[in-house]
Amino acid sequence: MVLTSWYPHPPPPGAIIYLTHPRFKAIVVFMEAAMKPEPKSLQEAVIYFSNPDNCIDYLAIRRWPNGIVLCPTCGSDKVKFNPNRRVWQCAIHHAKRQFSIKVGTVMEDSAIPLDKWLTATWLVTNCKNGISSYEIARDVKVTQKSAWFMLHRIRLAMKDETFGSKFGKDGGEVETDETFVGGCKVRATVVPNVKRETLQSAILNQVEFGAKLYSDDAVAYNELASLYVHDVVNHAETYVKGRVPTNGLENFWSLLKRGLRGTYVAVEPFHLERYVDEQVFRFNNRKDMNDADRFELAVSQMVGRRLTFAELTGKAGETTN
Ligand SMILES: [Zn+2]
Repeated sequence: MVLTSWYPHPPPPGAIIYLTHPRFKAIVVFMEAAMKPEPKSLQEAVIYFSNPDNCIDYLAIRRWPNGIVLCPTCGSDKVKFNPNRRVWQCAIHHAKRQFSIKVGTVMEDSAIPLDKWLTATWLVTNCKNGISSYEIARDVKVTQKSAWFMLHRIRLAMKDETFGSKFGKDGGEVETDETFVGGCKVRATVVPNVKRETLQSAILNQVEFGAKLYSDDAVAYNELASLYVHDVVNHAETYVKGRVPTNGLENFWSLLKRGLRGTYVAVEPFHLERYVDEQVFRFNNRKDMNDADRFELAVSQMVGRRLTFAELTGKAGETTN
């Protein structure tokens, strides 16, 4: 077995190394790096990620799946791992030639160690009603302010990658209830008010022409009939029309509201979009995925996304304890 070049560490304790093959009098080197099983539960995750090398291994193989580490600044593959400092160094001379696994991800510039980041990510991706910065602060031992900033960056990693494309291609079915649903997938967006023009333009931005649109009978949707096949489900009469009723959204709404009312004490309108992203992530990934899968998906979306403290608050600086 050849260890791939991203693998930054010597064989772990317990690696089996066969050196000779007596019958053919040839030397055969076979190294079996005992791959540690990845965590499947919160308890296993806490133990696994308490080893900083495990954190790097978990992240590196997802970031560079073919085993070639690329410098996030210049893209060169001429990089060397320094196991003592746990950073890579690029052979090309330029600024920031030393880089950690955090560089180029939502964790960049954070002094909070990886075990805290990954444990917090596990908690956020898997708790049904969301988790407050106060809980994260206690669970992974950071300040509430740090936890709040971490949570917002984890939510950015949870944001749906397909956001920006439209629902309802080729006449597909879309439900709307001041949120949008396509097939079994929720896309929610925060709008400043529920006036007709606002809702209609939000839908126009999200839904392809010709899609079958299901909504309640709010007057705001009336003019959409010319653009979409618009089927109204009247909430007042609780009958269900032949196809998908907007009741499909009730579950999503109740989870979102429970999180907003119960878990997060005060959510500013400015930040509402990210709380919604977080709930959408868990809702869309609730079926056929276990805790480890959801965690892995969020971690793999950490790369290429940044959210600085200044962007989040309009102020500079981060508390790192
Ligand atoms: Zn470089």
